[in-house]
Amino acid sequence: MSRPESPKSGADATRPAPSPPSAPDPRPALTDLPLDDFDVLAELPGARKFTPKQIRAWVWQRGARNVDAMTDLSKPLRAALNERYRVRRSALSSTHPSNDGTLGVLSRLDDGEVIESVSIPEERRHTLCLSSQVGCAVRCSFCASGQQGVTRNLSAGEILEQILLVRELRPELPLSNYVFMGSGEPTHNLANVLAAIRVMNADEGLGIGARRITVSTVGNPAALTKLAEEPIPFHVALSLHSPEDAQREQLMPGLGRSDLRASLAAARERFERNHRRLTIEVAVMAGVNDDTRTGHALIELLRGYPAIVNLIPWNPVDGLPHRAPEAAKVDALADQLGAAGLTTTVRRPRGQDVGVACGQLRRHAH
Ligand code: SAH
Repeated sequence: MSRPESPKSGADATRPAPSPPSAPDPRPALTDLPLDDFDVLAELPGARKFTPKQIRAWVWQRGARNVDAMTDLSKPLRAALNERYRVRRSALSSTHPSNDGTLGVLSRLDDGEVIESVSIPEERRHTLCLSSQVGCAVRCSFCASGQQGVTRNLSAGEILEQILLVRELRPELPLSNYVFMGSGEPTHNLANVLAAIRVMNADEGLGIGARRITVSTVGNPAALTKLAEEPIPFHVALSLHSPEDAQREQLMPGLGRSDLRASLAAARERFERNHRRLTIEVAVMAGVNDDTRTGHALIELLRGYPAIVNLIPWNPVDGLPHRAPEAAKVDALADQLGAAGLTTTVRRPRGQDVGVACGQLRRHAH
């Protein structure tokens, strides 16, 4: 983010400093390297057999922010590494603390884009909401993230650096849960999301148990099948929002054709194969899907289906054509579903005072 005002050495001090290069740093970031690819670092001049493991531990366990911090590598080896690689590619831009303990974190990517992560401490867990893309192509009519469409995918390293950053910002609050519920549709950036999850889950990476990771998706059937093929058994949350395909297509214009039955069948296959938790998410909006008719249709669709239904009272976003539901209506919907045998939870809104609920922060703060 900040560039040195003047070159560190070799410059004539009487001449004005050359303007900083505008091209982004061409060196690949170590956070983008798949864990096995660290082996290539054994070929660096001055490297020993165990050098790749040492560097990998510096990046993922010891949290080095730059090569100079890797003090047990020889100076020439550090210089060789530094010439070819940087450690990270994003930097903290700003933090937004909420009264309820939620912390919104904006980081700046090396091309100037800004992404948002949200740290949500609760009594017995501390959840980090991760972004997977800059913007989102699904453009849900109620969601702040996609209103400008999608700018680009995040690399695996950019996804993972959100975790490193929040660990550094809140060392006293160890993270316990990781949800891909920031901006972006994870299945539109599946290769990088899965690469990030592999590093998250591996012992040589961040050592996070699969059951602590949730991928939230609009649930295209083919994408769900691909998720089912991934051997790491992370949780999946399916953003349903409506029990009717036509209404889903209206609410989620970038979704394409909605085929709920195919999506639910694909998600069920994944659930049954892994015996993992599947959540159905419904963002509840006044006059859209907060009535008993919606409740009946949800019950018809989900009867006997092995999932937890999570009702998310809509978090107001300036300029979007929706209204928050009355709490009593959300409770009545939860009761209706519960009485029909569907396990149902209602999500408490967090971070509303600083606008970090569901992708609102980035819109206001950059
Ligand atoms: N693209 C992924 C992740 C989105 S964020 C997905 O669609 O699942 C996680 C959940 O929050 C999604 O269900 C999303 O629809 C919901 N959401 C987004 N904006 C919201 C808002 N303003 N209020 C309530 N829920 C919202």
